[in-house]
Amino acid sequence: MIPAVDVRLGAAEEALVLEVLRSGQLAQGPKVAALEEAFAAAHGVAHAIAVSNGTVALVAALRALGIGRGDEVITTPFGFNATLNAILEVGATPVFADVADDYTVAPDAMAALVGSRTAALLPVHLYGLPADMAAIEALAGRHGLAIVEDAAQAHGAAHGGRRVGSSGMGAFSLYGTKNITSGEGGLVTTDDGGLAERVRLLRNQGMRARYDYVLPAVNWRLTDLQAAVALPQVRRLDRINAARAANADRLTKDLSDVAGLVLPYTPAGRTHVWHQYTIRVTGMERDEFCARLTAAGVGHGIYYPKLMHDYECYDSPVVDTPNARKYAAQVVSLPVHPSLSEADLDRIAEAVRAALDA
Ligand SMILES: *Cc1c(COP(=O)(O)O)cnc(C)c1O
Repeated sequence: MIPAVDVRLGAAEEALVLEVLRSGQLAQGPKVAALEEAFAAAHGVAHAIAVSNGTVALVAALRALGIGRGDEVITTPFGFNATLNAILEVGATPVFADVADDYTVAPDAMAALVGSRTAALLPVHLYGLPADMAAIEALAGRHGLAIVEDAAQAHGAAHGGRRVGSSGMGAFSLYGTKNITSGEGGLVTTDDGGLAERVRLLRNQGMRARYDYVLPAVNWRLTDLQAAVALPQVRRLDRINAARAANADRLTKDLSDVAGLVLPYTPAGRTHVWHQYTIRVTGMERDEFCARLTAAGVGHGIYYPKLMHDYECYDSPVVDTPNARKYAAQVVSLPVHPSLSEADLDRIAEAVRAALDA
């Protein structure tokens, strides 16, 4: 079976973890500081603040901006539910805008939903593709709105020559399956020193200095052990993303003449980091297509089978989003991770072709 996800860590991670173990200093310390510095530099931002996970990074960004009850946050309904859960966690109201045919939230759909209670725009850089940030920045500028980027799947992705996480507040995840990982972990990025300071307070009991509490908060710290796993990957980030991009190019070349599917594309001016290589199956029933991939030994995933609010536990005001609804019924993600061999890529393309031919 060619796995959909294959995480491989190496000698650099082992050496750094061993160094932390032997130091006896496992909690947030010098390795977290080094990770923050490297991550900020890799994204061209002044500040990166490490937290326990990507969901908490979103919550921290929203709280640092003072977003809460009575505020509306415009986001996409098509993605991982951490985005919705973070908005609800701070007491704000999610408003769902439809997506464009690149699967990221459509700026014109967002614009149509801006109202007097709108406080922030929260695009998700889905599958590793930056949303249309030029248009989203312009919209935010016109209405004085904050921007929180969900960049959990998009470390190192770029638009207009800038990396994601630099438009306002960025939230990244280091979960076990992301392009770079520490098992669990997250980072908040921003160029704003005041917001960065608030996130640092929020992650550490609201303490400005030892036992000097300036706001009520809890513990969202990352450990030096986790930072030691992530730091070498941040240093290799461009190589990791280049390997994914080469695999994506290869799949696109091999599948471009196949009828009955829609391949992913990268709009001009944006750099995709291929957290997922996601096709849409239009020529046959998706379940049958997936069963054939499984039979051919090709791992795959469906991200995401439903819209975020399609579950009984939510009662959010819902806007009709026909593109997102259609795509959720058609998407299938193929393996694109850096450990794929040429032979694996051949087999994936062959399995897709055979599934649709049969
Ligand atoms: C993974 C993910 C998150 C949440 O990150 P965790 O580290 O798992 O909490 C948020 N948004 C998106 C789009 C994700 O893929």
